[in-house]
Amino acid sequence: LLDSASVANKVASSTKNIAVMTSGGDAPGMNANVRAIIRAAIYKGCKAFAVYEGYSGLVKGGPQYIREMHWNDVRGWLAEGGTNIGTARCMEFKERWGRLAACKNMIEAGIDALVVCGGDGSLTGADLFRAEWPSLIAELHEKGEITSQQYENHKHLNICGTVGSIDNDMSSTDATIGCYSSLARICEAIDYIDATANSHQRAFVIEVMGRHCGWLALMAGIATSADYIFIPEKPSSRKDWSDHMCQIVATHRARGKRKTIVVVAEGAIASDLTPITCEDVRDVLVERLKLDTRITTLGHVQRGGNAVAYDRLLATMQGVAAVDAVLEGTPETPSPMIAVVENKIVRKPLVEAVKLTKSVAEAINAKDFAKAISLRDSEFVEHLNNFMAMNTADFREPSLPVEQRKKIAIINVGAPAGGMNSAVYSFATYCMSRGHTPCAINNGFTGLARHDAVHTLDWLQIEGWASLGGSEIGTNRKTPEQADLGMVAYEFDKHKFDGLVLVGGFEAFVSLNQLEKARQWFPAFRIPMVLIPATISNNVPGTEYSLGSDTCLNSLVDYCDAIKQSAAATRNRCFVVECQGGNSGYIASFAQLCCGATASYVPEEGMTLSQLAQDIETLKVSFANDQGKAKSGRLLLKSEKASDVLTTQTIADIINAEANQRFDAKTAIPGHAQQGGIPSAIDRTRAARFAIQAVQFVEKMYDTIAAAENEFGEFVNSPAAAQTACVLGVERSHLKFTSIRQLYDYETEEGRRVRKNIFWQDIRDISDLLVGRVRVN
Ligand code: ATP
Repeated sequence: LLDSASVANKVASSTKNIAVMTSGGDAPGMNANVRAIIRAAIYKGCKAFAVYEGYSGLVKGGPQYIREMHWNDVRGWLAEGGTNIGTARCMEFKERWGRLAACKNMIEAGIDALVVCGGDGSLTGADLFRAEWPSLIAELHEKGEITSQQYENHKHLNICGTVGSIDNDMSSTDATIGCYSSLARICEAIDYIDATANSHQRAFVIEVMGRHCGWLALMAGIATSADYIFIPEKPSSRKDWSDHMCQIVATHRARGKRKTIVVVAEGAIASDLTPITCEDVRDVLVERLKLDTRITTLGHVQRGGNAVAYDRLLATMQGVAAVDAVLEGTPETPSPMIAVVENKIVRKPLVEAVKLTKSVAEAINAKDFAKAISLRDSEFVEHLNNFMAMNTADFREPSLPVEQRKKIAIINVGAPAGGMNSAVYSFATYCMSRGHTPCAINNGFTGLARHDAVHTLDWLQIEGWASLGGSEIGTNRKTPEQADLGMVAYEFDKHKFDGLVLVGGFEAFVSLNQLEKARQWFPAFRIPMVLIPATISNNVPGTEYSLGSDTCLNSLVDYCDAIKQSAAATRNRCFVVECQGGNSGYIASFAQLCCGATASYVPEEGMTLSQLAQDIETLKVSFANDQGKAKSGRLLLKSEKASDVLTTQTIADIINAEANQRFDAKTAIPGHAQQGGIPSAIDRTRAARFAIQAVQFVEKMYDTIAAAENEFGEFVNSPAAAQTACVLGVERSHLKFTSIRQLYDYETEEGRRVRKNIFWQDIRDISDLLVGRVRVN
């Protein structure tokens, strides 16, 4: 989501009239997208318009449907689900006469550029509209329905698409606006169902949305450790799927599992293209396994509710990028679609993206399922393989030969973070599917001193951990040196570990460094070691993402939404919210963008009185501007370590003194609520991906370690050996292993416990832009 050139590209001279429209099915985040487009357009000197009710508003036209929008019209929209400007399916726009009417209405309203937020149908319509535009205006001109001046002024139409769709079914983009909110809702629902299924030992067949795309079903399957999934991209014959599902479910039940969850995408099909319905699946489970089976169709619940943090972020960044795209577009440039690829906002040719999307459906219709899968992105395929490995494995027949099986330990270090348990769950199940022995070290490195510190994880014990918050195996902040390095080495030697997976934040990072350095003295540490970053502070060098940071961000965003509402109810209140994160301003910065807070203060920038004074001026003006209007709650976010002098309470006191009764300020400290709670769907699915990659790393690096022993049996501290102790990080969306030695020596500010380079400055700049914050230094 970073590297958007938008902010650097501040132009306040443009005079275009830019309209935004939402079309097709509604998706959470559409409002955030509309808000960003309207505010970015105004910021750049343009007039902003909203077309209400999708294409039908364009066809009907007039001030009722095409309205000019002002900065304050979209206040509070960031959080709201659905789309406030309405959406519709419009048959008239599919006809030329409908598009002719739309063209005339746009010209009458003076619109030069249109941003359409919708799915592939909506974007197909948009592209067709642009392609036909010259002939449409020529016809209107000929008929005398527009003047020559209007004809000259509107010769070209600039169009840009932002993808709003809950299915994540659009090619060329890794995520669509709304898909992660929908996934969150599905996981929440399945978590509820889990409890009742477990109580009655029932099976549940759950239908989720996704006509041509199994992304929601697949990701929900991983996040909730479902027993089986049906997706359109990977069908099998009726006999095969019945046999396979029954074999898997029966195996799970035989191991002691009390419940069964099967997730069915609404577009699930058998290899002869006949639909697989929930009823089909239920009948098989009842007839062949005699399971008490119920069906739950989640339906429109999946579309509703507030947007999760990721969707707000994606929608906002895409909105700003869309305004840039229409401003920079020329008659020659193909219409762009704003996509997110590898965590980066990019422009893609709209026509090709639509064509590629349609080709998936075509491949499925032609029964070319291998092609359908190949057209999905590589992460989809990796997730699918992971799901198959973890959930459909028969542990009696692991995939590795006996001589290659290892004993691999996992340890949690530092404060708990959402996704730690999910990582342990996926680690253990994947290990078992390969034939490894997964061992848990309980209660961190100090825990090793106890006699029962290490135990083998078995399948039944970890059941349900994928969706649990906290740390079931226990965590501790102490590093090996603090716990006693010699004792740790002795225990490692005693248990004969072949590999170690650490899950944790900066303490885990320091621990890995200590273990790697101690390899020269202690042979027990000459094993592959890998750190899965997990901390709400997201301050681990070598990664742009740590498990737990999404869960934390969502808790903070929910908290801020709630207090903002309370502040709005009193009309003129501002809350100063204190955020965790140590010396890292990641959480405060991202929360500012996701909540539309007036400002965020972070340790990387520190706090100055002049900036605070400026922000108080902004508050005064904005409260004065919305006198008498609702939704006037405002937020200031302060990282706990942004300033020792200007504490949260002091800031509130200063605001109260300055506000002179026109508004008031209160403090709000969510504290440890930011660390806890049920892990978000993003953290659960990323934890699975991280954990499986970590096991694969141990498998791959085992021989490298052996090769680092010289002919005298001495350990050679070579660069190759250094590559066997790594941090597993995300750079863009690629997973990447970086040697701890490299990271610790060159990319870490040890004293402040943070990475040297922050990667979220663009997020801060765009947050400020969209709330009208003025920076004084
Ligand atoms: P979702 O992913 O929620 O289905 P979508 O954008 O694909 O969203 P559609 O119903 O396919 O939803 O399209 C929305 C609207 O876009 C249609 O009602 C129609 O007005 C317009 N549209 C779709 N396809 C075309 C087309 N080929 N030509 C012109 N307009 C189209």
